[in-house]
Amino acid sequence: MPTYEFRCKACDNYFEVVTSMAEKARRELEHEIVCERCGGTDVEQVFGGFSILSGASVKGSAADGGCCGGGACSCS
Ligand SMILES: [Zn+2]
Repeated sequence: MPTYEFRCKACDNYFEVVTSMAEKARRELEHEIVCERCGGTDVEQVFGGFSILSGASVKGSAADGGCCGGGACSCS
């Protein structure tokens, strides 16, 4: 089962939702993805940063000329 990371726009809380891709899409449409801290439903999905599918994506990719290589982005 994939893990999706979301950020609550109300309280800036990051939390994970473990669900199937189809169920995640349905819950997004129905606003059923709820912040664990404040209960708000104004959330956005966070892409990147960490991944349980590929451990390589956790580390910076500067060495291979990826996102952080040019210094143009703010990720670290
Ligand atoms: Zn919240």
